[in-house]
Amino acid sequence: MVKEDCIFCKIAAGEIPSRTIYEDESFRTILDISPASKGHAIILPKNHAANIYELPEEDASKIFVVAKKIACAMKQTLQCEGLNILQNNGELAGQTVFHLHLHVLPRYQDDKVSFSWEHGKPSEEELDAIAEILFAFLDF
Ligand code: AMP
Ligand code: ZN
Repeated sequence: MVKEDCIFCKIAAGEIPSRTIYEDESFRTILDISPASKGHAIILPKNHAANIYELPEEDASKIFVVAKKIACAMKQTLQCEGLNILQNNGELAGQTVFHLHLHVLPRYQDDKVSFSWEHGKPSEEELDAIAEILFAFLDF
């Protein structure tokens, strides 16, 4: 299903031109127009899902296979020295286009990419409480 007025639906469908580096029946992978590093690409599902919560399990299970393919190609062709996979959900988390996409970010010595956070120091009890909530919800 595609969504009216969704730019990534239109790009994924080929209605808006893009620098496609890989395409299959479920996904189109394109170069990011505003790359964080040389070769920065984004993988777009052809079916619209705004975020990971809406992503059908079938696409969820396939998208990492595509990411692996792209990552291996980048390592070989661009000789990147590292690589990050990133996927933002919600404005607070930095999502700016509300059609799920996976960033594949090749990394190079002295590139200007940075992800950082302050490491917390929760107590054992706090960690136990969070684990308990999630474990119970997920019902292993
Ligand atoms: P996010 O902030 O995770 O939602 O990422 C959106 C990404 O899409 C950004 O890195 C943008 O540079 C990229 N982007 C937005 N519009 C286009 C476009 N028309 N073609 C390629 N990349 C795009
Ligand atoms: Zn869409």
